[in-house]
Amino acid sequence: MDFEFEYTPEMQQFRGEVRAWLDVNLTPDVGAPVHPLDVTHEQFKSNMAFRGKLGEKGWYAPQWPKEYGGGGLSPQLAVVLEEELESRVAHLGNVMVNGDIGFTAAAAITYMGNEEQKRRYLPEILGGKNVVWELFTEPNAGSDLPSMTTTALRDGDDYVFNGQKTFVGALHDPNYMFTIAVTNPDRPRHANLGAFMIPADTPGITVHNLDLIGGGGKRSIFLEDVRVPADCLIGKEGEGWRAFTGRREVSASAVVARNPNLEQLLEYSRGNKRNGAPISADPNIRDTLVEVYMRAHVLKLWAKRNYWIGITGRRFGYEGQQGGLNRKLFGPVLAEAMLSAMGPAALVKDPERGAYNGEAEAYARESIVMGHPGGTVEIHKMRMWRGFTGNTMFER
Ligand SMILES: Cc1cc2nc3c(=O)[nH]c(=O)nc-3n(C[C@H](O)[C@H](O)[C@H](O)COP(=O)(O)OP(=O)(O)OC[C@H]3O[C@@H](n4cnc5c(N)ncnc54)[C@H](O)[C@@H]3O)c2cc1C
Repeated sequence: MDFEFEYTPEMQQFRGEVRAWLDVNLTPDVGAPVHPLDVTHEQFKSNMAFRGKLGEKGWYAPQWPKEYGGGGLSPQLAVVLEEELESRVAHLGNVMVNGDIGFTAAAAITYMGNEEQKRRYLPEILGGKNVVWELFTEPNAGSDLPSMTTTALRDGDDYVFNGQKTFVGALHDPNYMFTIAVTNPDRPRHANLGAFMIPADTPGITVHNLDLIGGGGKRSIFLEDVRVPADCLIGKEGEGWRAFTGRREVSASAVVARNPNLEQLLEYSRGNKRNGAPISADPNIRDTLVEVYMRAHVLKLWAKRNYWIGITGRRFGYEGQQGGLNRKLFGPVLAEAMLSAMGPAALVKDPERGAYNGEAEAYARESIVMGHPGGTVEIHKMRMWRGFTGNTMFER
């Protein structure tokens, strides 16, 4: 197995094309602000505008089918694109917004939707123009998602929703809410669910803000007699669980992103002094720096392995979960290392006093909250074990 990327002439030529496009289209406001949960409406709009431009090139969803608004790019070219965006856009997460990107919905529509639904939803999602919130978690159904109780019951030509979702959504208004709910209360667990695209302005939806340590952006949503046409059901009644798990299996081949917080930690430790000597001269800090660097490096190597599994068409087992689990475990470790090296500057949000304009402080909070989305550490361990032992990663 060769862990090194070989950049072919085609990849190098494409890199030139991406760079030239970014020179023209990337403005300094794109990617702001430092903390993704502090995005103002204005910043959201300008990030969305850039996202739309990426979408027009097919670069918002580079590997998705061209006929539905994706880029149809090979994994090799998609890696080049990702590298260039990572290195040029200050906070890429504010453009490729987690939690409202709608790719879980897009995967479900691609694999389970009919042709009319694909044409209705995919170009807008894959073109980066629509915001789709993913509504799965409920107050009594998080890790044990199939025990959800929100119902979507057929009534004539409609489905009618009643229930509550929580820890869902993002800071700014969505166009659609992609959700799963109980369509067939009499059927067994997993087989009783359906997947839906609900237009976000449908009457009966009430949205409440949650005040989380990571900042604003997560919501509790109440659905009271929310009535949508039956053709909002993606796939068939009883297929909702498949809609939820499909995206997770697709996403296992992602390449690991650059870690700006780690880069800042190393730079800060070399470039700042404590007691008259560079912070990195302190043997304890040096130990910590070496530890976190090693862990980050292992993540990169795993990402390259995953990339290799993907491009050679091999089957994923536990590998995608392994990367996700380690990222969740690594977050608080890195935040603690930043605190050791930077001291109080790691915990101050004020851009003048906080390290890296307050970015370190943002990471300290984010590293805690990021343990939960997409499944907790314990759930990732369970899934990884299932994949490791050759079983499917998800309950069926
Ligand atoms: C920042 C953030 C963003 C989120 N975004 C979304 C979103 O966009 N859409 C959405 O639908 N949801 C979202 N969530 C919700 C997230 O998916 C849930 O928080 C997560 O699935 C855990 O569910 P829970 O919070 O109910 O915890 P619980 O399931 O109640 O778990 C509590 C604790 O028990 C542990 N535990 C549970 N079951 C087991 C088990 N069998 N074995 C061992 N330990 C176990 C868990 O690991 C955890 O530590 C988000 C959450 C956060 C914090």
